[in-house]
Amino acid sequence: QSTRAFHPENTVITTPHSEIGDGSLVIMAGPDSIESAEHVAQMATEVHAVGATVLRGGSFKPRTSPYSFQGVGEAGLIAHRQAADAAGLDMVTEVLDPRDVDVVDQYTDIFQIGTRNMQNFALLKAVGAKRKPVVLKRGMSATLDEFLQAAEYIAAGGNTQIILMERGIRSFDNKYTRNTLDVGAIAVLKQMTHYPVLLDASHAAGERALVTPLTLAGVAAGADGFMLEIHDNPDAAFVDAQQAITPAHMGEIVTKARQIHAIV
Ligand code: PEP
Repeated sequence: QSTRAFHPENTVITTPHSEIGDGSLVIMAGPDSIESAEHVAQMATEVHAVGATVLRGGSFKPRTSPYSFQGVGEAGLIAHRQAADAAGLDMVTEVLDPRDVDVVDQYTDIFQIGTRNMQNFALLKAVGAKRKPVVLKRGMSATLDEFLQAAEYIAAGGNTQIILMERGIRSFDNKYTRNTLDVGAIAVLKQMTHYPVLLDASHAAGERALVTPLTLAGVAAGADGFMLEIHDNPDAAFVDAQQAITPAHMGEIVTKARQIHAIV
């Protein structure tokens, strides 16, 4: 059960390079999508240098339009794995389809279930049958009860290595932000559940100027870490260019976030 009534102690998830939920601040960073082997290798080195222990990047992309770039598939998983290993990082990547869980499992350290699939019960059951950590992103219109019930679908299969991620929800005014980062949800989830709670301000903001303040707000609310979309040339990113930030910008966020984390 995901509530503290059943499990008072924090769940701590151990991966080769990270302890998630142990009181430290975990940083997952990398490009939105895997663009090339060379690019992800460069990004891995750069995000490692500024504090990441987990390299993100999508090889299967959940695009709103079927005509948008869909990701490079298994070739991307191979490049992502090699880049993570070379830099001494863990790998997290999204899986979109239950039929792809086995191939993604061959490469990744951590599965990612995206906002659009939070209630894809077949997919949740498929990762629940694995014994590997899962980042579960909150559905963009999901209540916290629905979010925790989705986590239960993973746990019911015996996989309790679950990392909850707030990434912004749809609200009545998303003209200036892509989504609304639900900072209150981070604080509430930390009280309600024993699972680590992270945030993704890149997807919440949809705008690079907002990534710093939203990330810092999430850390102040008690998040166990955060995810950032990084690109050396943000405007040229294949996907979500407007929210990508440079490794140098990430370094500034990490410095400030660690200061805030030390006092919450
Ligand atoms: C992502 O992290 O690449 C992604 C698509 O995020 P979300 O599911 O939160 O939109």
